[in-house]
This record gives sequence, structure tokens and C-alpha cells, in this order.
Amino acid sequence: MKKDILEQVTYDYVKAALEDVIAIPSESLQEKKLAEYICGRLKDAGMDASVDPHGNMVAKKKSGRTGKTIYFNSHMDTVEVGNLWTKNPYGEVDGDRFYGVGVCDCQASLTGMMLAVELLSKNGVELSGEYGLCAVAREQWPCVATKGTVNLIDDGFQADMVVIGEPTNLTICRGCEGMLEVIIEVTGVPVHACNPELGVNAIEVMYEIMSEIKKIPVGTSEILNKGAINFGVIEGGSRSCVLPEKCTLKVSRFIVEGENGAQFMKQIEAILEEVKKKDERIQATAILGYDTLAGVVQDGAEVIEMLKEASREVTGKAAPLTAMRAHMDADFLINKAGIPTVAFGPGDLDAYNAGAEWVNISDVVTAVKVYITAVMNLLG
Ligand SMILES: [Zn+2]
Repeated sequence: MKKDILEQVTYDYVKAALEDVIAIPSESLQEKKLAEYICGRLKDAGMDASVDPHGNMVAKKKSGRTGKTIYFNSHMDTVEVGNLWTKNPYGEVDGDRFYGVGVCDCQASLTGMMLAVELLSKNGVELSGEYGLCAVAREQWPCVATKGTVNLIDDGFQADMVVIGEPTNLTICRGCEGMLEVIIEVTGVPVHACNPELGVNAIEVMYEIMSEIKKIPVGTSEILNKGAINFGVIEGGSRSCVLPEKCTLKVSRFIVEGENGAQFMKQIEAILEEVKKKDERIQATAILGYDTLAGVVQDGAEVIEMLKEASREVTGKAAPLTAMRAHMDADFLINKAGIPTVAFGPGDLDAYNAGAEWVNISDVVTAVKVYITAVMNLLG
């Protein structure tokens, strides 16, 4: 049975599905059309599929027999097209490469997962337990509370394991860093620049704060390597001959296991207190605007073993373990829902190019075969 299904994962079948998916524009907040397309397709394949009030497409197949529950999860939203594209951003094939906006991050994974559950359901494979696909909205939208996966978890989503579709270059990515964003605002005293001693220069105060933030050591981890701090946005001042009254800074920080936003805020607040002591006219505040955690699954977990075995069966070699120095939905599934979650998908984030995103079609074929093999081994 497995062999029969895997034979249906042909290059043309995968390529045609990629063409359909990439042709549907799906920037963050505009995922509806794509959700409906996937929903219709998986309903036709005999799955229980619907689009929830948050815009997530959830398709499931329950066997009625006791067994594990495995879900695939991939985001539907892409970045904006931008004006750097020289290829057709809605799908262009060149040799084995498929170009398109969002194809690497992460619609090739999404397409692969859709095809895997479609073929399992369509072929009426007798399995125990339950499998399904969550095609989620707003993963790339910078607000934790409105992320599709967070909404699913808030609504009670549970599973024994989840495989996320992100570009891991067909490796098993078992960890992601957490991302924090802190917004700092400094208010000084604006006077004419010929009398600087009469005022407080908000930009100079911020410069001091930034120098102190630079001294905060980033976290290190065996699995995630190390964190990072970045000054991403700075605004302040109006005229060169006036001491700026306000300066605002957005600083992001990537954290490893054991670190969290509250700790970072304490470090920032201690810096602000020191700065304020120097001149009582200085006002400085900080807000934690984006607060997530690192998520890690230990080697030996069932979801990892499952993918190692499935990739060994399909490619002859077990996929290696990796981790991502960026944030992904695995954080919420691991830390909020307690579900062992790893990512596995085609596409290489290191080769990501905003003006010419691509994946190898042959890698998508491999991914589909690994997804199908994993489910059949787990629930067979
Ligand atoms: Zn992604």
C-alpha cells in the first residue's frame, strides 16, 4: 500500500500543485482565498475540512480506532512581493527550480503537506488514530495574540506531535529561538543647541542606553547556538540646531532556552534607572512589545525518531538534526500546548532571496514522500 501511494507522488503532480498554490496571492491578512482552495481540495479527498473564524484551514481524518494524533502545520501567509522580482512572483519554473513569492517560506512545505494528507485520505489508507493539516494564517504578522497557531491553541488544539512546514532544507529542525521586541522611549529637554547645558539631548541619552544594552551578554545553548541583539529602528529629533526632545528605539533580542522577556525587561529597566539618576529631568520608559520563547525538542523524542526513520526509508539516509536561529510557531506548540513539535520542509533559508525565492521541485517530492511514510509508520 505504501509503495502504491508513494508512486503517486510524481514530479508533475507536485509541480502542478505548486503552480496552483503559488498563483494565489496570500500575503498576511489576505490568506482567505488560499485557505478556501486548500479546504476544497482536502474535502474532495474525503477529509473533514473547514476554515475556522480566525481564518485557519483545518483538515482532519479520524479513523475511529485508538492511536496517535499527528498534525502538520504550515503558514499560508507570505511576505509582500516587493519590486525586486525578475521572475514571475506567482510561479515560474527553471529546470528543477520553482520560483515564486513565499515558495521557500513556506508554501512549498504547505503544498507538500497538503498533498501528503490528500493522498493518504484519497487512497482510503486504513490507519489508527488521527492525522491532519493546519494551514495557519498570520504567522508572519508581528502580533503574537493574532497568530493563527496561537488562536488554534487558545481554542483547545491538541495532538501527540506536530510537524511544522518551514524551509529546513529537509533536515529535522528541533529547536527555534524566541524573539523579543522592546520599545524604549526617552524624553529630554529641548533647548537651542547653542546652549546645550540648559537642556537634555534625548538622542544622546538613548546613545548611552544603547551602549549599555550592547554590554548585555547574549544567551548560549548547545542546541540553538547563541542569541542576538539588534537595534532595528531609531527615531528622534527634528532640527540639527535643537536638542531633540524625544528618541524612540526598537530593539529586538533572540533568546535561547531558559531566557525570557521578563528577564530582558529587568536588564533594560536597570539601565534606564541608572541613566535617570544622572539627571532628574530625563524620562525613559520601556515596553515589551513582542514576547515569545525558545522551543526545543530533545533528541530521541518520538516525533524526531519518526522523521529520521521516514527520511531513511525515502532517501536512504536519516535526515540530520538542526535548529533555527529564528522564531517559529514551534515555540507556541511546545511551550503553550505542550506538544513535541519539529519542523521539516524543502527549501533553504540560507539561500533565501527576497527577489527570487525558490525551491527545488525534487525536494518537495522528497518531502511529500517523507510526510506520507511518517504518518503510515506511526498510524499503520
Ligand atoms: Zn515561515
